[in-house]
Amino acid sequence: MDNFKQLTDTGRQLTRHGEPLHYREGLYQLSPHCYSWLVPNGSWGETNIGLIECGGKSVLIDTCWDLNFTRQMLDSMAPVVSRSPIDTVINTHSDGDHCWGNQLFADRTIIATHACQQQMHHLKPQSMSAIQLGCKALKHLPFGAVDSFSRYMGAMLAPYHFKGIQITDPSFTFQQEHCVTVNGRDLVLYEVGPGHTDGDAIVYVPDQRVAYAGDIAFIGSTPVMWSGPLENLVAGLQRLLALDARVLVPGHGPLASRQDIQHLLDYWQFVDEQLQPEFHRGRPPHEAAAAILHSAAFLGSPYARWSEPERLVTNAYTLYRHWGAPADSLPDPLSTLDLMRRQARVAEGLTASH
Ligand SMILES: [Zn+2]
Repeated sequence: MDNFKQLTDTGRQLTRHGEPLHYREGLYQLSPHCYSWLVPNGSWGETNIGLIECGGKSVLIDTCWDLNFTRQMLDSMAPVVSRSPIDTVINTHSDGDHCWGNQLFADRTIIATHACQQQMHHLKPQSMSAIQLGCKALKHLPFGAVDSFSRYMGAMLAPYHFKGIQITDPSFTFQQEHCVTVNGRDLVLYEVGPGHTDGDAIVYVPDQRVAYAGDIAFIGSTPVMWSGPLENLVAGLQRLLALDARVLVPGHGPLASRQDIQHLLDYWQFVDEQLQPEFHRGRPPHEAAAAILHSAAFLGSPYARWSEPERLVTNAYTLYRHWGAPADSLPDPLSTLDLMRRQARVAEGLTASH
């Protein structure tokens, strides 16, 4: 990050989740015409947003998890968007922390994959508000009443305000590949999902050699595979490497090197190799994930230093589903909250043992 000019600084002294900053939050210039608002350290909702200037107009890559942070992001982008207003928004995928700020751009062109649009309404902002209320209410009960799920979700959602968010759909969808040309600058959109979610896309700006990877790339935190299959996620990461980009912007965390992307490929290989025998032995996915996270092989690996290691629970469920585990042994694929409940228990076990 030291190689890139930081144009604005949000002035934040700790991350949204209260951690020491690994790098400054603000707008960075990545090439003559490409920028990113980088949000340390890349944990829940700490999403990087892309900005591409095209001669008097700008293209935004993703919006934030709520309207407050989307407005903060716009303030931070003022040096660019005041001379080149945002004309087009591209959503890399349907997770709320990449598209729930869309309503501030409802009169602009919003582009996403068809599969992304199909998935956008699966989880509602109202559900998130309800969970927040529930977590707060439980805090007022006598000690011991707050369970691992409330603590986990309460901490994850604490920085965000979900009231008043209207999910705003893309106005244009595509499949496979699509080129957007704005004032002569080409942006190439590649559909790489289903993998992280059903409709993942990456965005490449060839004349700037900058790639925006969305959430197929998490740096410094554990990657998540909600949808799979793993082969697609791996192919997406390989496509990212094949772009010959000079700068790789992950969905979360600091700018990525090619080696960071290789580490992600290694993580997925490790997870695949560790989980296969557990699957064939008939061990439930959350138990298998917990055992791996406590194993010497994992604790001695570079992945043990990534935050949110408990996301392995979600990854295990997704892999089991693709390996043909009986449907009644798995949570409803749409039931993110059921997954979070299991993940919370594993996270609590990790904290207790370290
Ligand atoms: Zn995501």
